[in-house]
Amino acid sequence: MSATRFGIERAELATLLDGHPRYRLDQVWAAMYAQGGEPSSWTTLPKGLRDELAHALPRELSEKASSVSDDGDTIKFLFETSGGHRIETVLMKYSDRATVCVSTQAGCAMGCSFCATGQAGFSRHLTVGEIVEQVALAKEAAASTGRRLTNVVAMGMGEPLANEDALWPAMQRIHDDFGLSARHLTVSTVGLIPGIRRLAERPLPVTLAVSLHAARDELRNQLIPINRRYPIRDLMNACRDYVESRRRRMSFEWAMIDGVNDSVRDAEELARLCREIRPVVHVNLIPLNRTPGYPVSGSSHARIQAFRAVLDSAGVPVTVRRNRGNEIDAACGQLAAGQPIKISRKT
Ligand code: SAH
Ligand code: SF4
Repeated sequence: MSATRFGIERAELATLLDGHPRYRLDQVWAAMYAQGGEPSSWTTLPKGLRDELAHALPRELSEKASSVSDDGDTIKFLFETSGGHRIETVLMKYSDRATVCVSTQAGCAMGCSFCATGQAGFSRHLTVGEIVEQVALAKEAAASTGRRLTNVVAMGMGEPLANEDALWPAMQRIHDDFGLSARHLTVSTVGLIPGIRRLAERPLPVTLAVSLHAARDELRNQLIPINRRYPIRDLMNACRDYVESRRRRMSFEWAMIDGVNDSVRDAEELARLCREIRPVVHVNLIPLNRTPGYPVSGSSHARIQAFRAVLDSAGVPVTVRRNRGNEIDAACGQLAAGQPIKISRKT
């Protein structure tokens, strides 16, 4: 495959720049990662080289639309890959940080019942360049409003630990070349145990989030089919080994589904699992976002508070996450890339 803007490695770029002064390598790399934008704007370089680079290092994603919500604080981008697949990336600006939620696959093969991406099925893995480019574009979008991108979460479309070949080189690049700290990089998984075990061995100590959603196999099997292969007991052992070897905090994600996983009993079961890993596990409660294929609502405020109270009294740290991007289908689990985009700006 020929080189791409964010797929090319430094050594390959050095070969591409053969015949140019050696300092050009650093200049071009800095232009790509620190400065951003198109080669035509890289005025530290001679015009001929800029033209050459524009041709030799094409971008892999084209922006088809973007939608804005939360008074401009949440932006969802719809990108098309060179093969015509559609993926989504969400930039969320908070008072103290700006986070981009990146996709790692076009679609997802895991088939979780409540998730729009899962309902749509799997198309293909994204490449290193496609994952890094989502971050580059979000960084530019944040910078255009005077904000610095601080966090990356692999929590968009797809299962990151099913695409480790692209995920890890991409995370390394984001760390080394965009300069984001490993603590500010998060990988969210449905619970692929071999991948969690390998995570403990990786040089880059990113933050782990496990999408749990149920604390007993009978219920988790219904919501998350892969639980049949990687049941809760084995998953907890992998999580405990991970936090013991890495000495890092991790989180459990829990979508609050009305009448399904939001009872006091569910909360008590979850608290019991957390106690095994305590004090380093943090629970994030996210009211379920409705999706076309799973017409169940998120839990009411009262049920969320009652659930939370059980965790609080068990001493489990818990956050109720604000729902970002709901009205533009950019919230967790709503990313399907096929839905109509409500406020669109063609580029
Ligand atoms: N495949 C990975 C990462 C992408 S999904 C994973 O499953 O962790 C990102 C998060 O959105 C996961 O925590 C997932 O469980 C959650 N999610 C999926 N559908 C949702 C929905 N309809 N409402 C709220 N959260 C949802
Ligand atoms: Fe895939 Fe995550 Fe959606 Fe499950 S919740 S289908 S693993 S993207």
